[in-house]
Amino acid sequence: MRWLGCTMMSPRAAAKLMHNLACDLCGGGQTEIFAVKHDLQYLRCCGCGFVFSDTSSFDFAAFNKQIIEDLRDTHVGKLASPRHLKAYRALLKRFERYRQTGRFLEIGCSTGSFLSHVRSAGWQEFGVEPVESSALHGIEQLGLNIHIGTLDTAVLDVGSFDVAYSNAVIEHLEHPADVIDEAFKVLRPGGLFFADTVNLESYTWRFLGPRWKLFDPRMHLSLFSPATLRAYCEKSGFKVLRIETHGVRFHATRADQPRGFARVLDELRKAPYSWAARHNLKGDNITVYAEKPS
Ligand SMILES: [Zn+2]
Repeated sequence: MRWLGCTMMSPRAAAKLMHNLACDLCGGGQTEIFAVKHDLQYLRCCGCGFVFSDTSSFDFAAFNKQIIEDLRDTHVGKLASPRHLKAYRALLKRFERYRQTGRFLEIGCSTGSFLSHVRSAGWQEFGVEPVESSALHGIEQLGLNIHIGTLDTAVLDVGSFDVAYSNAVIEHLEHPADVIDEAFKVLRPGGLFFADTVNLESYTWRFLGPRWKLFDPRMHLSLFSPATLRAYCEKSGFKVLRIETHGVRFHATRADQPRGFARVLDELRKAPYSWAARHNLKGDNITVYAEKPS
């Protein structure tokens, strides 16, 4: 594992590392290696700074499918977890003011744990999920309306949804622009696009660098910052209402976390960063609220 920050490279070395994979955000063809992990590289667009995985030499689709299948029971467990239930209720309250057609879309709904709460709140729920085993759980066990496949194959009514929601999904996409464009299309004028993803420009990245568990070019093909996430939304036509961040980590995985009193000290050391992250957009989790103009 090594980190090759752009500013650390000589112009000659940078020229040598240029690639021609086009940037999904700005369409630029000039990139440089941002970092290497698991023998795969993250590239950074020289035009707009967007960071994405070089997928040319790895079967990322098969890898992701396996990971998601392995995590299926964890996702199912979220349905009944009190912590998730509380978070879901708080989130759903935020969407209430958008309710007009009553149609709610979740992009990448996994096993349907959130979507089932969407339905319980009185929305007409629609989910899109490409991993068949996850989608089938939502369809067969929870009776949810889920399309097995991607958003572009779902054939949804244009301009019909109040909310298009995605949580921990867009970082898995090779071409997020296609999905954000599609979300724009199916939302009604005045409808809300909500996305929650990993923030590369975070304290966590500063503290952990490539050791960060979520920094994984096999799985997280697109790594956003508040600026690139905003640029994606605006490129699709959305008006960005709000960007929020939260979350700071000092340790690469849960197993690395200290225990007992050391844990308490760790939390105290973390508190000022956690507070600051809510104000300076350096939290490791970004959320965007963007509206389709009326
Ligand atoms: Zn770019």
